[in-house]
Amino acid sequence: MSYQRDNVRRMAGYTPGEQPTDTGVIKLNTNENPWPPSPAVMSALTAITAEALRRYPSPTAASFLAEAARLHGVGADQLVATNGGDELLRLAITTFVPPGAPIGVAEPSYSLYPVLAAIHDSPVQTVELETDWSLPADFASRMNAAGVPLTLLVNPHAPSGRLLDADAIGAIAAALDGVLLVDEAYVDFTDPGHDVVGLIQRHDNLMILRTLSKGYSLAGLRLGYGIGPSALIEPIARKTRDSYSVDAVADALGAAALGDQPAAQASWEAVREERTRVIDALRGRGFAIPDSQANFCLARVPNRAGRSAEALYRGLKDRGILVRHFATPRLADCLRITIGTPEQNNALLSSLDALLTG
Ligand SMILES: *Cc1c(COP(=O)(O)O)cnc(C)c1O
Repeated sequence: MSYQRDNVRRMAGYTPGEQPTDTGVIKLNTNENPWPPSPAVMSALTAITAEALRRYPSPTAASFLAEAARLHGVGADQLVATNGGDELLRLAITTFVPPGAPIGVAEPSYSLYPVLAAIHDSPVQTVELETDWSLPADFASRMNAAGVPLTLLVNPHAPSGRLLDADAIGAIAAALDGVLLVDEAYVDFTDPGHDVVGLIQRHDNLMILRTLSKGYSLAGLRLGYGIGPSALIEPIARKTRDSYSVDAVADALGAAALGDQPAAQASWEAVREERTRVIDALRGRGFAIPDSQANFCLARVPNRAGRSAEALYRGLKDRGILVRHFATPRLADCLRITIGTPEQNNALLSSLDALLTG
């Protein structure tokens, strides 16, 4: 006798990337920023008082939202703070998708999306990306034809790192009948100049997901947020979200992190420099890699390597380097590699050299 709902019993859970307790492992598998958070974050942490922990936190994460409003030039009513970006995804589904209605995703993309759809007992309406990981021209019309009330679109794309520019995002929002949630988990690593936040003034169906996990080196904190027209934000912020899903520590540290833009931007620039170097070095070794605007790259293993992507993944793991391998049809011959520090990236490249010649 199972007490689970049928959809829950049938589904498989999300498979997180490996999170080893051994701190000696070089972790290039879950796209963390390799640089530490701003010193301002660490001093905000030491300034947390017992009294702040005794009390319930601000129900809106007011300190954090004030910083986010300043950073993006939007109103506090156009923002909602969540327990990681992942909670915003779940809340968007809860808020905008009637039970049983389909959720639109490009395939492949973030493997959490279908898991959240299964929890909601919604089918997934997938649209296959082209071989170069671009969106097919009829993406929006196929979502509309399927009656999709919510489309989840990760940009820069995971796992390829490809970026759609703001015009392309605006065109998709304009063409979709339902809500477009642009998952910008990796947007901080794009070359300067990319910004779609201004589009929320023109598209009443556009919502943007941000997270402090990647760009601000705070994956352990669990803080994300949504930016959108107040009519999209309000039902999440006032109704479907738990009042206290963002705790007092996250509220204070998140405000400190957004408040120190120079520190964060320096880390993004360092990642971009290494991204260029690592991608060039891997291409020089025969890997096929699309241009990436994220803090990872998707490296297709050359046939002549004589080793499968999975064998390389295992070989690297044996050498204390974790990368991500997805055993799915379109990704099985690829490794998704997070851009690390120069030392970590050098260790990756020399281990690959040993594996490819060995
Ligand atoms: C990391 C990530 C998120 C959000 O992660 P959180 O740690 O929950 O903020 C959302 N979408 C994608 C594609 C991601 O990689």
